[in-house]
Amino acid sequence: MKYSGIGIFKHCFDDPKRITQFEERVVVTDASSPEEAERIILAEFEEYSTDGVEFLDTYEIKEIYEEESIVTEIACSIRIFAGTDEEYLSKYWHDQRPLSCESVGWQHVWFNKGNGKSGCYNCQEERDGELWKTA
Ligand SMILES: [Zn+2]
Repeated sequence: MKYSGIGIFKHCFDDPKRITQFEERVVVTDASSPEEAERIILAEFEEYSTDGVEFLDTYEIKEIYEEESIVTEIACSIRIFAGTDEEYLSKYWHDQRPLSCESVGWQHVWFNKGNGKSGCYNCQEERDGELWKTA
């Protein structure tokens, strides 16, 4: 049988200007029981947790029911939220990174985005030039 697992991870960085990132990670495994699936998936989550990545010991294991369909749901995350559709999308989807560090009081941390452009680890800004060299 197939099982999926969703785990919550935190990415911390040596550079204090880089803002912490939280990751919801989905994996799939074959196992003969839910207990074996949990053991396999938790071992993989521990293995993934190196170099500033911390597993927050929060997860969900689910058996995957393969149906006569070309699409199979492997995992989902359901939240209770009392606001409007727009408020939900703004909080949990579109705002995974702010448009700019300047709007939230953070500092840009530039990286080489290729083609002579710089991207920021913390926000969605992209600028011309090799700004990561001047940080
Ligand atoms: Zn930024």
